[in-house]
Amino acid sequence: MPALCPTSGVGVIVEALTRHSRHPREWFSTYHHALHTLAFSLVVAGASLLVARQRWKIAPLTFLSFHLHLLEDLLGARGPDSYPWPIPYLMPFSHAGTLTWNGQWPLNAWPNFLITGVLLIATFYLSWKRGYSPIEMVSRKADSAFVGALRNRFSPPERKSA
Ligand SMILES: [Zn+2]
Repeated sequence: MPALCPTSGVGVIVEALTRHSRHPREWFSTYHHALHTLAFSLVVAGASLLVARQRWKIAPLTFLSFHLHLLEDLLGARGPDSYPWPIPYLMPFSHAGTLTWNGQWPLNAWPNFLITGVLLIATFYLSWKRGYSPIEMVSRKADSAFVGALRNRFSPPERKSA
């Protein structure tokens, strides 16, 4: 699935930047799927528990979204060499429980493009409707510009009269 783990997002950038260097760093290829474990999901959820303002709401959602990512990888993240990228769910405590699915489609297959398109449209719609977008997490100014562009392109949502 097109989603990237936040932790592996850095790795994919480093890998792309060093690909043709004398010392390529294969951080994404090596570590991305190694972190697809129950243990790491608990680390990530625990970190969100420590830093989030609404910790008891955010930590379970973090845990859930981590597992949604694992499900998406299981369904549609097969590599160009047809390697299914098994998910070592119980590592480092057990080699049992490694997850694969024989029906897994390639990362660049049409279902991923369809899902991505539908989710982008939903994100744009909700941003237009609500007046804020996920960009708000990075920059309020950029978020305001994004929502403004959406509302300039499409008429602003009607306000409910009191
Ligand atoms: Zn993944």
